[in-house]
Amino acid sequence: MDGLKWHQLGTSELQEQLGTSLEKGLTDAQASERLQRDGRNELTEGKRVSPILLFLNQFKDFMVLVLIGATLISGLLGEYLDAITIIAILIINAVLGFIQEVRAENSLRALKELSAPIAKVIRSGVQMSVPAKELAVGDIVLIESGDRIPADIRLIDANSCYAEESALTGESVPVNKHAAAIADAELPLGDQRNIGFMGTMLTRGTAKGVVIRTGMNTEMGKIAGLIEQTEAMETPLQHRLEQLGKILIIVAISLTVLVVIAGILHGQPAYGMFLAGVSLAVAAIPEGLPAIVTIALALGVQRMIKRKAIVRKLPSVETLGCASVICSDKTGTLTQNKMTVTNVWYGGRSLEVTGDGYNPAGSALEDGKEVDIKNDSTLRRLLQISALCNNAVLIHTEQDGKKKRGKEKQQEEWELRGDPTEGALAVLSAKLGVSAKSLEGLYKREKEFPFDSERKRMSVVVSHQGGRIICTKGAPDVLMDLCTYVLWDGKVVPFTATLKRKCIEAAEGMAESALRVLGLAYRDLRPAETCDNEQEAESQLTFVGLTGMIDPPRKEVRDAIAVCRRAGIKTVMITGDHQRTAEAIAAQLGIMPRGGIAISGKELEAMSDEQLDRLADNIYVYARVSPEHKLRIVKALQRHGHVVAMTGDGVNDAPAIKAADIGIAMGISGTDVSKEASSLVLSDDNFASIVAAIEEGRGIYENIRKFIRYLLASNVGEILVMFLAMMAGMPLPLIPIQILWVNLVTDGLPAMALGVDQAEKDLMQQKPRGAKENIFARRLGWKIISRGILIGVCTLAAFWITLRIAPNSADQLVKAQTVAFATLVLAQLIHVFDCRSSRSIFHRNILQNKYLVFAVLSSLLLMLAVLYIEPLRPIFKTVPLGFREWCLVFVAAGIPTFFMGIGSVLSSNRPKKKITKMTGMAKPSVR
Ligand code: ATP
Repeated sequence: MDGLKWHQLGTSELQEQLGTSLEKGLTDAQASERLQRDGRNELTEGKRVSPILLFLNQFKDFMVLVLIGATLISGLLGEYLDAITIIAILIINAVLGFIQEVRAENSLRALKELSAPIAKVIRSGVQMSVPAKELAVGDIVLIESGDRIPADIRLIDANSCYAEESALTGESVPVNKHAAAIADAELPLGDQRNIGFMGTMLTRGTAKGVVIRTGMNTEMGKIAGLIEQTEAMETPLQHRLEQLGKILIIVAISLTVLVVIAGILHGQPAYGMFLAGVSLAVAAIPEGLPAIVTIALALGVQRMIKRKAIVRKLPSVETLGCASVICSDKTGTLTQNKMTVTNVWYGGRSLEVTGDGYNPAGSALEDGKEVDIKNDSTLRRLLQISALCNNAVLIHTEQDGKKKRGKEKQQEEWELRGDPTEGALAVLSAKLGVSAKSLEGLYKREKEFPFDSERKRMSVVVSHQGGRIICTKGAPDVLMDLCTYVLWDGKVVPFTATLKRKCIEAAEGMAESALRVLGLAYRDLRPAETCDNEQEAESQLTFVGLTGMIDPPRKEVRDAIAVCRRAGIKTVMITGDHQRTAEAIAAQLGIMPRGGIAISGKELEAMSDEQLDRLADNIYVYARVSPEHKLRIVKALQRHGHVVAMTGDGVNDAPAIKAADIGIAMGISGTDVSKEASSLVLSDDNFASIVAAIEEGRGIYENIRKFIRYLLASNVGEILVMFLAMMAGMPLPLIPIQILWVNLVTDGLPAMALGVDQAEKDLMQQKPRGAKENIFARRLGWKIISRGILIGVCTLAAFWITLRIAPNSADQLVKAQTVAFATLVLAQLIHVFDCRSSRSIFHRNILQNKYLVFAVLSSLLLMLAVLYIEPLRPIFKTVPLGFREWCLVFVAAGIPTFFMGIGSVLSSNRPKKKITKMTGMAKPSVR
């Protein structure tokens, strides 16, 4: 097929060549057969790291290599058992590290899959959504402004269509696309105006096309190798920890060298000391840290997915915890986006519309009496425009044969495909007897000027009985400016200032009751009018009337906003809707505090940046804004030191989403462009999911702090035992194998379990953390050092006390080493519970984290195994301990945690600072 010039073909040739129907598309069977034949519609990915390489990577650490070398030498010198055990421990360590990395990578890949693009297709005459990679040649795809074109397609229908093709042609200005055949055979890509290329983006309009090439056969596929596809997945924290890891290696090695020198100076055998030193270095270097951080991030991200927030860029997980302002769209995010027209207004008359949901059953009442629609030409015209200037389709599911079971059948019988605002208008017309179906034969659509958030209106040109009419609907304030006439008492009269005033008052009245208001207008076109220019076509219109629709707030949002307030996060509504509607909804949701300000896009435009900066902290509602205003708002808030989360769905929202610290796109209603620009996608478009994501983001960060605290304090303890003993001229408190075993049993599982720990109760009652906050801030550094020192000193004390009973007996040394070994392990396993709380071990339920309990029990068993399993004792040079020794071990191991815990309980009884109150709301932190 590739040799054909697709742009030259007419519709019937296209159908024939592609073996498809341009109306009904392929059947599912045809599509899967072609998919088998041509392969998936995706660009092949780069190579992955092989598992063997990943496993071998675990041994690339310098100190591990030194230890392997040293062990092999001691093996050659006859210490087989030691050598084999050390190598075995290293292999187990590597396997754990390997599993951690594979898990981390798999979770990241699963994330990528989740945000894979979706395409709208027509198959067997039915519109449906399928993963873009399952598109086949001959599929009919539908595209709207903001969509990425999912395969190479030949356009068969195009309305005011522009595509941005710079990735392919270098042309940065969007080019106009059409559906007509082009005669010239040889055309450069940029001139193939009736072809939509995979990966390029529709910036305006709507289009329909038939797939002509997929996957690597597309024009994009041909240059796929040149395109950088992977995004940096390392978070700033991971980067900083990597740097920290390097410093820790140097510190650990330096201290180890000191330990070795001190030991040798005090008469320890040089080779034994060298082996102990290298083992200590291996144990003290937190080599598992990066993998555990990745796992904590990846698992946290999985939890977010369950809470309907899909992370596209891993660094945003960290930023989420710092968010101090959420700027949210209204429609669909704060509200349900389930619109129902409840009021209609025209020519000074106000009607109430009854009925529920999408079920087209109801009537229009004026002062409680049913209106006679047949004798009301203005109302009929209003309903006609509602039905004609509309792309939504109402589907009676029973008629479709997809009968739903259960109690909800009554409400679920009618389903909407398309924009809910248009759906509400379609339902209104159908309720009052002027359905799209009834107009089908009488009116033929010739052209559409699509809706976008900038224009805030939509028009269609329809032919009817030899004439043509343009029907327009949109934001009333925008629409009224385009009208020179008005339908009043059934007659077309000039739209005088007085009549306009009445219409504006009616619109504001509806808006104040939280209704979303749309105006409707029309014009009979002159026979010669071409309608090429939308501005000319949408002028001198006749205003017909207004519709007011309810869009109830989402139930969970009010609580979510209250949570934000307690968490020091400000919620700002940014909406294209009318200011009065926005204010009314903001009041219902508790967004607007006393003294809060609402401003309109026009007012915003009139403000200088300085004026905006002065007010920004007090503005809670921005209404009738255009997408480009959002960028200004983000920047103003950022200048105030805020970390801004900003939602968006349209093609023009992308710059603001990109500029925000956390750009959030809508999974259901969002365009591909907004999703690609975002770092977070909400799979349910719900504001409450942003708050859930922030909560998870905070939790993940705290968990990372928890295991950093645990691992580093443990390492400080381990080094200190050896260091102090050598400095004091004592015998070795731990032999190399014991050191490695301590490292194995304490580092891996408990640290990982901390990574999935439940958040503390007051997580969302604290102020957002500062974006530049050091990971060791809020006394974490102090806690690491103090607990580490206590662990080291207590272990050494237990060793010394045991040794003192018979200082020169070899048996007593083995016993003392066993006591030191058990104390060091137990102290760490008790301390791990302390790390769960920012206060102390007494502030949390020890059994809450089941993974941690399991990890600690496993580690305990591994520790006891080398004490009580007979054949292991000679290898680990241990002896079983008696009651007295165990008492000593428990006391020494418990002191670091309980001693500090009691101090913390005492200090937490002192009164604490609370989040500053501001007119009943938390004041956002300004750094
Ligand atoms: P938000 O920005 O919070 O999602 P919104 O949906 O009101 O709110 P837009 O989609 O930008 O924002 O719509 C702006 C205005 O355009 C609406 O208030 C409405 O008056 C008008 N409008 C919305 N949808 C349509 C449509 N399909 N056809 C014509 N006009 C519309």
